[in-house]
Amino acid sequence: MKIAFFSTKSYDRDTFDRLNSNGQHELTYFDSSLNSRTFPLAKGYDAVCIFVNDRVKKKETVDGLASVGVRLIALRCAGFNNVDLEGLAKNNIKVVRVPAYSPEAVAEHAVALIMTLNRKTHKAYNRVRENNFSLEKLTGFTIHGKTVGVIGTGKIGQAFIRIMQGFGCKVIAYDKYPLEELKKAGVEYVSLDELLPQSDIISLHCPLLPETHHLMSNDAFAKMKKGAMLINTSRGAVIDTQAAIEALKNGQLGYLGIDVYEQEEKLFFKDLSDSIIPDDTIARLTTFPNVLITAHQGFFTKEALEQIATVTLNNISDFEKGKKLENEVKL
Ligand code: NAD
Repeated sequence: MKIAFFSTKSYDRDTFDRLNSNGQHELTYFDSSLNSRTFPLAKGYDAVCIFVNDRVKKKETVDGLASVGVRLIALRCAGFNNVDLEGLAKNNIKVVRVPAYSPEAVAEHAVALIMTLNRKTHKAYNRVRENNFSLEKLTGFTIHGKTVGVIGTGKIGQAFIRIMQGFGCKVIAYDKYPLEELKKAGVEYVSLDELLPQSDIISLHCPLLPETHHLMSNDAFAKMKKGAMLINTSRGAVIDTQAAIEALKNGQLGYLGIDVYEQEEKLFFKDLSDSIIPDDTIARLTTFPNVLITAHQGFFTKEALEQIATVTLNNISDFEKGKKLENEVKL
């Protein structure tokens, strides 16, 4: 099949080209993201392959893709909050995704954010390189024995729980669909209102849905234990960023570690080191000493890239052969 890739980076090209070396599919790579201005690039292609910050939400993009002949959207990610499933279904365009690509990779990154924020290894690294061997202001806290609140106990949440239990933490969780096996493994399911004040560290692993949009609001920050740490590797808009900034300013929120950001589309995955950043919110966030931001790299391991490409190409081949689409995203 002829597939147009959007938001392509060198690592996407390398992995997909290697796994498609038999030439089964015809792959064309575009650097630009897919949106209402760029959809005409997909003319003549059967499928588009897109990532987290490509947007197929506006009617003109959805209808536009149909008008240029696209029949399949292959998401090379798990989340599907960036596509309008209803509009696409009306246009008879199917959507497939990669439901899991090394959930451990994302969970391990969440732990990296916790460890860096807590033990300030990023600051220690710079200090020692400048022959500053002082420990002043590097005090952390012992994670062993702390209470960790996990919101969303799906694949990534479970991988994260296993690690935090290994640290000797008490794990409490909130999910709409509690899992018996986790209860047996010592996880206590509680309501969100119970989780917030009890947790020393809160980690978000739920999808972005209308009901989880700004789940971490002014109200939620007010209910948290003072000085708690909040980690987000799920989707940016699960946190109301302005509310987080207020909570950081008044000390209610002790630490914030984010791999995702509400307005990340215009920033993440790009080298803007030579540019003026017009986004004052991220500029404010980067001024806090207790905030750590990474640019959506939770998934970014070689194992995960391999898995993403393998599953995406299989999804496309299944569609081409008219097989049942195991990883179809339906309404
Ligand atoms: P999953 O579908 O396995 O698990 C999601 C869990 O959230 C489920 O248990 C579900 O019941 C729960 N949930 C749904 N609605 C909820 C609500 N209102 N409140 C609480 N829990 C709710 O998904 P996953 O593979 O664990 O991925 C979780 C999220 O991580 C994805 O949706 C995606 O946004 C994000 N993600 C980020 C990266 C990254 O690189 N940072 C990579 C992959 C996925």
